[in-house]
Amino acid sequence: MHALAIRDEALRLLASGLSLSETSRQTGVSLNTIRRWRAGPAADSPVTRTCVRCASRAHAPAPADSYAHLLGLYLGDGHIVACRKGVYLLSIYCDNHWPGLIEEAATTMAQVMPTSVVSRRHRNGCTEVKSLSKHWPHLFPQHGPGKKHERAIVLEPWQREIVSAHPGRFVRGLIHSDGWRGTNRVRRDLPSGVRWYEYPRYHFKNESSDILALCGEALDLLGVAWRFNNRNELSVARREAVELLDLHVGPKY
Ligand SMILES: [Zn+2]
Repeated sequence: MHALAIRDEALRLLASGLSLSETSRQTGVSLNTIRRWRAGPAADSPVTRTCVRCASRAHAPAPADSYAHLLGLYLGDGHIVACRKGVYLLSIYCDNHWPGLIEEAATTMAQVMPTSVVSRRHRNGCTEVKSLSKHWPHLFPQHGPGKKHERAIVLEPWQREIVSAHPGRFVRGLIHSDGWRGTNRVRRDLPSGVRWYEYPRYHFKNESSDILALCGEALDLLGVAWRFNNRNELSVARREAVELLDLHVGPKY
């Protein structure tokens, strides 16, 4: 294996939560060398590319569009939990009815955290798409104790920039995790008799008013008309608005 590849592999193992000695055993590299690599990861290593906080130079996560998408999935219905010392598990629960969305969530997670392995666990009609890293709380500083709707969800400036640049991917993540695209039936009484019209519409339901507001702001950026249906739900129902949102989200698959 090329020396750079060995270093990247060692940093990947460390990033996934392995101890120095475990990493040394697995790579056959001395503890001292691994300590040096950990102290100053090279500018081109996956770790420096991945983390907004641990990188030697400040930068936002990449690719930005995938990050916007994963942020939407996380805020919609994702969870970060502390596992063992310093390592966190990011989980997105996906309905087994939509295998395409499971695949998409896994791909997006892997793109944002290429140093970690994405795995899946099936249970009760759901698939948990998950990945371990010490960096998840750095990438999603909204992580905190308690439920999301019981605390303020405020994006950091670098996150706002990414969402503003990729509002479509952000809304895609939100709606695919916690939203719905279905059919509305509307009755029209015409001189020729009663006619029923069917048209698609979107709902996004969330108990956090902050997350609803973020969804609304992103829809505004896309020029998609929306309104509140309920205290905890917004909807996109006008035909042009649904057509526009279909370009970014579309039916579940
Ligand atoms: Zn980090």
